[in-house]
Amino acid sequence: MSRPDILVPAPMRDMILGGLEPHFTLHKLYEAADREAMLRDVAERIRGIAISFRPIDKALVDRLPKLEIVANFGVGYDNVDAAYCGTKGIIVTNTPDVLTDEVADTAIALMIMTIRELPAAERWLRQGKWVSQGAFPLTRGTLRGRTLGILGLGRIGKAIAERAEAFGMAVHYHGRNRQDGVGYTYHPSLVSLAEAVDTLMLVAPGGEETRHMVGERVLEALGPQGVVINIGRGSVVNETALAEALRKGTILAAGLDVFENEPHVPQALLDLPNAVLLPHVGSASEATRNAMGQLVVDNLTGWFHHRTVLTPVAETPVS
Ligand code: NAP
Repeated sequence: MSRPDILVPAPMRDMILGGLEPHFTLHKLYEAADREAMLRDVAERIRGIAISFRPIDKALVDRLPKLEIVANFGVGYDNVDAAYCGTKGIIVTNTPDVLTDEVADTAIALMIMTIRELPAAERWLRQGKWVSQGAFPLTRGTLRGRTLGILGLGRIGKAIAERAEAFGMAVHYHGRNRQDGVGYTYHPSLVSLAEAVDTLMLVAPGGEETRHMVGERVLEALGPQGVVINIGRGSVVNETALAEALRKGTILAAGLDVFENEPHVPQALLDLPNAVLLPHVGSASEATRNAMGQLVVDNLTGWFHHRTVLTPVAETPVS
């Protein structure tokens, strides 16, 4: 039997391609001199897609009549039109759980870096200012006495909450649902969460439903000691409103790992001394990215060898 044809629209880690190559015929769109010609040539045969961080939209799905599965590298899959895939019986898989602890660690690190101004303190030392000007200025912010509000108390949100408790923080949360068996304080709206806390951790997924949930109103509710940490998706935050709030002192500081138009970061944020900016590194260790990559391979081989996948997304359950 011939090996199933898999479309790889954008570069992926070598360990993923190496894991797929023995089982599938891979069509690496990014290597084609004429991508449109390659797509025209293979579209009728493609049965699976392996993708990382790039859009898989309705138009592409409609061009692939034999498509059965889209295996996404990443737990967030707002880059894939999963609802549309669901209507066509196409399975979408993601890579949950294997990255939860790594991302939670990064979120806590970013929170402390932001509140205690650690990147600026390190720059102070490297620039020789410790010698020429003396001690780094005392930070206005401290983690002591802070209350954490989590938007999106899911797998990663819960892992962040556990860590925050160990740091002595009280934890509140907002999501669409109050969760059973969870001791943290629930708020039915994001504004009421922001009013109750001074540190807001964003871990909700991207997509239309959460787009610009954090804007002027939420930032004002958070107040002048307020700190926003975004480890979820850039689209959740209105970046113009955030930059303005940081500039005016509506809130104290922000730490961002994700941006609306990655890899481009608005100049207004780059210019601010009270913003700590990371290039989407939440899960970016070799070990964790390998575990995510293995899950992409296992989902694709599982589907074509046994008609089963490990981690289908909610919109495309496998019975
Ligand atoms: P998860 O377990 O599905 O948790 C998502 C949480 O968001 C749930 O608690 C859900 O609660 C809440 N939520 C969903 N839609 C919402 C809405 N419209 N309004 C308010 N809350 C909403 O996902 P996870 O594994 O924790 O991952 C969370 C997100 O982190 C991913 O989607 C991804 O975007 C991001 N992420 C970022 C990195 C990075 O490198 N920075 C790495 C991994 C993941 P309800 O259902 O009750 O609303």
